[in-house]
Amino acid sequence: VRAVVFREPGRVEVDDVREPELVDPRDAIVRVSLSAICGSDLHFLHAKAPLEPGETMGHEAVGLVERVGAGVKSVSPGERVVVAFNIACGACWFCERGQSQLCEEARVLGAGLFGGSLGGAQAELVRIPNADVNLLPVPRDIDDERAIFVGDVLSSGYHAAEIASIRPGETVAIVGAGPVGNLVAQAALLHGPSEVIAIDLEPGRLALAADAGAVPVNAAQRNPQTAVFERTGGRGADVVIEAVGTLAAFERALDVVRRGGRVVVVGVYASEVFPAQLGVWWARALDVRFTGLCPVHGVWRRAMTEVARGRIDPLPLVSHRLGLEEAPKGYELFDRREASKVLLRP
Ligand code: NAD
Ligand code: ZN
Ligand code: ZN
Repeated sequence: VRAVVFREPGRVEVDDVREPELVDPRDAIVRVSLSAICGSDLHFLHAKAPLEPGETMGHEAVGLVERVGAGVKSVSPGERVVVAFNIACGACWFCERGQSQLCEEARVLGAGLFGGSLGGAQAELVRIPNADVNLLPVPRDIDDERAIFVGDVLSSGYHAAEIASIRPGETVAIVGAGPVGNLVAQAALLHGPSEVIAIDLEPGRLALAADAGAVPVNAAQRNPQTAVFERTGGRGADVVIEAVGTLAAFERALDVVRRGGRVVVVGVYASEVFPAQLGVWWARALDVRFTGLCPVHGVWRRAMTEVARGRIDPLPLVSHRLGLEEAPKGYELFDRREASKVLLRP
């Protein structure tokens, strides 16, 4: 079957790979109707996270269940499903408490050895372990292009806004208005804040955030701290959600939050080291919360309902619709930030 494979740092190809098989009775094989490229795939493209040459990539997919093992109860062949980007067991201490991102057997699709050596979702077929837990049926009135977001970035944005405990009337600032930041903004607006301020450097991303109802602040043109303080009586934002995953963005989040405010970090970190002056954090009574990976299994039903009701709409984020064979071009466009979201149709 055809799949996107990692060749060497900076280069992916579409190639023939071995067809995935049912390995465990709880497995399902999904025929992918739509896959996508995510910001996290770029870490692999640039070898910031390790993949062996020839390993398959991608963790976002919608498709039809092709086959299921004898132990699968909740999905059946022919059913349209979205795939969870992080694969959980559904039964361990953490999974039972809704923290499936901390699962004892946590794995990630298309993330090589580091992710548990599962095949990638940018492929014609993908194997999904513990299918009862890691596949969510898609309601008939939600199309593939919207549903695919529920398996990763939409649920991640929704969850970040949820754990920020936004109270009505509070001001929320979001650092980074990529797909995740945009969906954080849409989700934050559902909590009744007085306003949501989106900080980014790219006019295109800011325009999308403004369309979603946020106040855009272009950090390339003006000091975002000044901009946020002006709108909050000189205090800073009650809640800041960092949706970039760089030290500069984390620092910016600390710059724009008020004393006693909350900072939620949804951007992904690996080996970065940040010098914190604890006396300052302590005196400012800062509340810093890390999402870790999104515990998608406990979030995606609510997120899907918001999409069904039209209260969150990821569709404006889609900038490119390509065939799976055009994946290398999609990676290039996305890497150069010329694409906001690239969808790949096998
Ligand atoms: P993206 O790269 O498309 O978007 C990042 C945006 O941040 C860009 O628009 C960029 O212009 C802007 N930016 C960069 N530096 C900035 C700065 N200093 N100040 C303000 N804006 C800045 O990525 P994305 O797909 O939106 O993902 C964002 C982050 O979320 C990534 O780190 C990604 O890995 C992470 N993520 C986390 C989860 C999770 O489960 N926690 C899930 C999906 C993605
Ligand atoms: Zn992702
Ligand atoms: Zn588990």
